[in-house]
Amino acid sequence: MQEAQNLFISIIIPCFNEEQVISHTYERVDKTMKSFKHGGYELIFINDGSRDKTLEILRGISQKDSHVKILSFSRNFGHQPAVTAGINICLGDIAIIIDADLQDPPELFPEMVKIYLEQNANVVYGLRKERKGETFFKRVSAKYFYKTINFLSDTPLPVDTGDFRLIDKHVIEAFRSLPEKNKYIRGLISWIGFKQVPVMYVREERFAGETKYPLSKMIKFASTSLLYFSKKPLKLALTIGLISIVIGIGLAIWVLTGLIYRTNSIVPGWASTIIALIFFGGIQLLTIGVLGEYLGNMFEEIKNRPEYIIHEKINF
Ligand code: UDP
Ligand code: MG
Repeated sequence: MQEAQNLFISIIIPCFNEEQVISHTYERVDKTMKSFKHGGYELIFINDGSRDKTLEILRGISQKDSHVKILSFSRNFGHQPAVTAGINICLGDIAIIIDADLQDPPELFPEMVKIYLEQNANVVYGLRKERKGETFFKRVSAKYFYKTINFLSDTPLPVDTGDFRLIDKHVIEAFRSLPEKNKYIRGLISWIGFKQVPVMYVREERFAGETKYPLSKMIKFASTSLLYFSKKPLKLALTIGLISIVIGIGLAIWVLTGLIYRTNSIVPGWASTIIALIFFGGIQLLTIGVLGEYLGNMFEEIKNRPEYIIHEKINF
């Protein structure tokens, strides 16, 4: 078994406009890291284009504590690119990803490391047994999001998990080798495999400030996770297309036999014509839309642009 004192630990903290919490976060993380045995650590704060004082505050902290490293982006690239940057640059034997807003408790780190060591796990992921202070909409949308994604996705995802997790060197290396640009991190880590063990925790209320995930970002996140992990929407489009063809043929036969044998009066058929027109028009637009989404994603990937642009590195 590996020993805790040989482990160098990287803590990855994405921050976007977190001036109200960031010094508390640092204090709690710092306190936790000093409270248990390990072989050294680094705290990587990724400043994801904050427009408030987050970077200044972090800069101040980094001057006093050389464990604190800052990666500052040229603009806001998003939560997932920020975490990706942390995983790409970290030096640890293990890394722990945690939100900056103290919804995930840093005090859980020792427990996570213990589980990692004792159970020989490669991933220890936080499983929310309770979510405090989240809006009804957030809870319901999250629940149905995970249900849908598990129904559609080829890679099963544990429900009620976020990106709060410990990953080891094998997973870090596997993650770095993934070429896709648009990353849905918790899905990818689940896809990578190895031994993944949950640790239960209570998801607290955001310490201060408000969510940096407005509806638009949530939709983008959900669509990436769906379209990158499943080809089922495409198959669904195909199935709907086939069904409508069968209905169409059935209808044609009915109309023609009616005409030949004069068994039905199809002349006052305006309503049925319009209904069919609208219905099949809708299906066509829907399926073209699904195709378009996949095409758009391929376009994004083919452009092969970097996932983020680093403006400044401090203490690296
Ligand atoms: N975040 C980020 N870039 C963004 C949005 C969010 O780095 O564009 C960070 C944010 O600072 C926080 C984490 O990602 O540390 C999760 O965001 P938030 O707490 O706002 O999401 P929620 O918990 O409401 O889903
Ligand atoms: Mg949060």
